[in-house]
Amino acid sequence: MLIDTHSHLYFDSFDEDRELVIQRAIENGLAAIITIGTDVETSKQAVALAEKYASVFAAVGIHPTDCADVNDDDFEAIRTLAQHEKVIAIGEVGLDYYHMRAEKEVQIATFNRQIKMAHELKLPLIIHNRDSHEDMYKVLSESEASDAGGVLHSFSGNTEFLNSILELDLHVSFTGNITFKKSDADELVKNAPLERLLL
Ligand SMILES: [Zn+2]
Repeated sequence: MLIDTHSHLYFDSFDEDRELVIQRAIENGLAAIITIGTDVETSKQAVALAEKYASVFAAVGIHPTDCADVNDDDFEAIRTLAQHEKVIAIGEVGLDYYHMRAEKEVQIATFNRQIKMAHELKLPLIIHNRDSHEDMYKVLSESEASDAGGVLHSFSGNTEFLNSILELDLHVSFTGNITFKKSDADELVKNAPLERLLL
């Protein structure tokens, strides 16, 4: 059974043929598709798609590139959405020091608050990490992230970082970056145990 654990089906690039895309995926053997919000608005859209299609499930959360102006109402909205029966994770959340659309302190605070939420609601985390390995490890190891569980999606970093993430009982997923000619991810992928790999 295959599950696509990371999609953004609400993107307007799917406006023309969203239903067909979902249908084709199911016909080709996907048991389920998880579609993931990046702020309150897209989290609502993800839940609406999960309500409409039996095979679609949603994750709700505030992405590190969308957290500069986040407020208490936003967190409350995410918490309410997260209790919908088809919401199966909090995400995507994390740190992004590449785009740097919000101060590090704001990103870390937003991330920590959603880790706490995931733990309280007994939902796993879908985690985004870009150029922030050191703080990522610090936040994950000092929070309830291991208890909540979850995945570092589109994993990047060296073997040492991979092992430290696996030691926290988290899962990883790799994306297109491992196909780049310059990629040095072959060893990394080999070192990720199959039972900890998500699609
Ligand atoms: Zn994503």
